Amino acid sequence: MPPFKVLISGGSLVGLTLALALERAGINFEVFEKGEIGPQLGASIALHSQSVRILEQLGVWKDIEPTVTQLEKVRRLDANDGRVFEESFQLREISRVLRWPFFFIERRRLLQVLYKHIRDKSKVHDHTAVVSYEEHDDGVVVTTSDGRSFRGDVLVGADGIHSIVRAVMSERISRINHALSTEIDQAFTTSYQALFGISRRDPSASDSFLPDGHTVYNVYGDNYSAIVTTSPPDLVFWFLFIKTGRTQDHKTPRYTDEDAQAVIDRYGRTALGKNHTLRELWDTRIRATLVPMEDGIVKQWSHGRVLLLGDSAHKVTINAGLGGNLALEAVTQFTNGLVALLKEKPSPSLSDLSSLFEQFDRVHRSRAEVARTISAKTTQTEAQETWFLRFHARYISPWFISDQAKAGQYLRFAKDAPWLDFVPLPSRDADLLDRREKERVGSRLSRIGRCLGAEHCWQQRQLPQSGGDIGGDRGGLRRVASSIAACNGQSK
Ligand SMILES: Cc1cc2nc3c(=O)[nH]c(=O)nc-3n(C[C@H](O)[C@H](O)[C@H](O)COP(=O)(O)OP(=O)(O)OC[C@H]3O[C@@H](n4cnc5c(N)ncnc54)[C@H](O)[C@@H]3O)c2cc1C
Repeated sequence: MPPFKVLISGGSLVGLTLALALERAGINFEVFEKGEIGPQLGASIALHSQSVRILEQLGVWKDIEPTVTQLEKVRRLDANDGRVFEESFQLREISRVLRWPFFFIERRRLLQVLYKHIRDKSKVHDHTAVVSYEEHDDGVVVTTSDGRSFRGDVLVGADGIHSIVRAVMSERISRINHALSTEIDQAFTTSYQALFGISRRDPSASDSFLPDGHTVYNVYGDNYSAIVTTSPPDLVFWFLFIKTGRTQDHKTPRYTDEDAQAVIDRYGRTALGKNHTLRELWDTRIRATLVPMEDGIVKQWSHGRVLLLGDSAHKVTINAGLGGNLALEAVTQFTNGLVALLKEKPSPSLSDLSSLFEQFDRVHRSRAEVARTISAKTTQTEAQETWFLRFHARYISPWFISDQAKAGQYLRFAKDAPWLDFVPLPSRDADLLDRREKERVGSRLSRIGRCLGAEHCWQQRQLPQSGGDIGGDRGGLRRVASSIAACNGQSK
């Protein structure tokens, strides 16, 4: 029997990271990418500390570290006049707690580094699109655009928001469950469009209106927002997000260069400081692209031997910079499960694989839902969608919420991110397992404490006026016990 093999449709963030992780685990794979590896779309990506830990485990971080600068500060500006209304060091606090930096990188460069680290390049087929797949009792066979067929044990759809693997999977599901297939096809909606770009900056110019490499500008408009940061010495990364009507993804348009020009004609005056505008970045762009900003989580991520990972399974709005980081979590979670399964059963059955996919869904879905909520709230806040969000951004957040508290809101999510558990942890994280276990126990105890407190208040209200013996109230004790059990259940 041939060794277990994972076929991967899509050679971008998910496809290449998965290939690297599988290679590290000694699992066979083959990647199919319909275009070139690391195309220039004008895109950049913020990598969060929890993802950097995974890149370090994969041996990639050492090639990235010298070329990026750690983000520390968020400067919040008014889009109309460029006035700064808040400065926060919340990113520095996040990096301090998670022990790894937080930074922007040109997306193309990240993909090139991931690709460079894959040892066996013959397993990565660029300019080769997956056009379909067929499942058999003992495996899955994909057909590619050049007419070739490849056999594997599992097929991973890492082919993005317009995934062909998801489309074929949905078509197979429609034969037995039409309603589910429709839900899968209509999983994404769009309420915003995003114009993003990379521009040149002159390293010798003073550029006082641009952030330094450690700062992100968050520009707040009325139903639109912008993000600008620099990547020393000579690049500027920028994004403009504009609220549109809500549309179902399968009806969203693909935008043209004329559409992007029309957006700049209308929003180019967005202020990036006194007397400086977004148009200046547009005029010095290397490349800029206008896209719909989809949001949604596909109801079912697997079928038979096929699993969706990354944007093909869940897509979140861009402002919080979470989509790619969530995708890296998915790769990590899935690879951890697969490595453990293959250790036990080198030739797993279809039912073993189904259990693996279900387990992955159980753990990762709730993380995707939280990431989606954080992202949507960030997008709405930065576009000041309501008067309350505007008031909160201008008067509550700068004056009444500390940087630690702002970081804490995000850390509650980020601290539970997975790492590759078949690769040693980096030395600075040697105590991570212990630390996480202590935090889990601590948060379980505090939940039990809160439940007991609530039960005690309830008891107080129930006591007869003449006084009563709580210890003798067996129903009360039963309620305390069941409160603890319920709390324990919640904290699992
Ligand atoms: C402008 C912008 C900024 C973003 N910024 C951030 C950020 O700061 N932080 C963050 O965490 N996330 C960010 N994201 C989200 C992040 O980029 C995505 O979540 C991430 O790229 C998802 O990776 P993926 O591999 O699943 O999909 P993709 O990156 O979309 O890759 C899919 C790949 O599949 C290929 N493909 C498609 N069809 C086929 C086929 N039939 N056969 C073979 N190959 C195929 C495509 O060519 C592509 O290379 C941003 C997204 C955008 C658009």
